[in-house]
Amino acid sequence: MIIQKSTNPRISSFDPENFSFGNTFIDHMIICEFEDGKWGDVKLVPYGQLPFSPAMMGVNYGQACFEGMKAYKDKDGKVFLFRPEKNFARINKSASRLAMPEVNEEMFLEGLKALVDMDRNWIPQGEGMSLYIRPLIFATEEALKARIANKYMFAIVATPAKSYYTEPVSVKISDFYSRAANGGVGSAKAAGNYAASFYPTKLAMEEGYDQIIWTDDSTHEYFEESGTMNVFVRINDTIYTPPTSEKILDGITRDSFIALANKRGIEMKIEPISVKTVVEAQKNGTLKEVWGVGTAVVTTVFQALGYKGEKLMLPKLSLEESFALTLQKDLVDIQTNKAEDPFGWRVLVEKNVLETV
Ligand SMILES: *Cc1c(COP(=O)(O)O)cnc(C)c1O
Repeated sequence: MIIQKSTNPRISSFDPENFSFGNTFIDHMIICEFEDGKWGDVKLVPYGQLPFSPAMMGVNYGQACFEGMKAYKDKDGKVFLFRPEKNFARINKSASRLAMPEVNEEMFLEGLKALVDMDRNWIPQGEGMSLYIRPLIFATEEALKARIANKYMFAIVATPAKSYYTEPVSVKISDFYSRAANGGVGSAKAAGNYAASFYPTKLAMEEGYDQIIWTDDSTHEYFEESGTMNVFVRINDTIYTPPTSEKILDGITRDSFIALANKRGIEMKIEPISVKTVVEAQKNGTLKEVWGVGTAVVTTVFQALGYKGEKLMLPKLSLEESFALTLQKDLVDIQTNKAEDPFGWRVLVEKNVLETV
């Protein structure tokens, strides 16, 4: 790994009490370029702009995928990643689906640890605080030719993140637009999937909703995901979540929620959820909770579901009553080293890993 430390670090002017998520970047980043059929040196360099041509293939043909993950600082200042090997496996799955080269462990896992270690002072401490990390791969070849590119860049950038507490939101069950299709790229974290979701989401917002529950593209009768999160439904005391597929992204938070529900002995069924079942359960009072899960905010609880012009309200549950909030707390306690980690999910970021690389 080639290391070039910033000569002009911004950390001294970073205020962990008052910063803007998503556009405050830590002092360094990882970059690595792919050319002539192989990845070059992994570089840890000062964060900054890179020169690209508008003819770069990534922006013209959309070969671009990414990951979203977090580093957490416990009360003693120890820093942990959460199941990073899952993100490593998933970015390579996404890359393969988009005909992009896979990344190796040195670039992803070692790069990640070196970056987080070097900029560990950027990780805000305290309830809900973390460092949001974005590894990504995109085609950089300058060519207006609709084919697989020959040049790519892998990068890791990161931004401090605040409390994930979100107000309960209203979601619209999609009866027209789709996020993913059979044989498509729904299970890849492809940048284009986000682009395709913005317009339908904007329309739902104009109708007064915050987000969309995506349904299957052929019948719109089955739940798939909610926004950019996996979805869970609780009817009576049973939780349901649809099985992952080429249309449903294999979320790490989803997988963790399933494990935590099993550990608590909560009944968890991984099976298709029909819109009809959910609407009926709401009408007869057995629908207790519907929520989305993902790395960014962990859980978003839904207060209302919009379906065919009707607004179906959900009960407001306390932390003790809510499976969503109970499982969220279980997860966050493991992520932030407040609880035992029976699953071996936490990965400590050692200090000064750089001296050994
Ligand atoms: C990233 C993402 C998720 C959540 O995955 P996590 O690994 O839990 O963060 C769910 N659905 C979509 C479409 C996503 O892009």
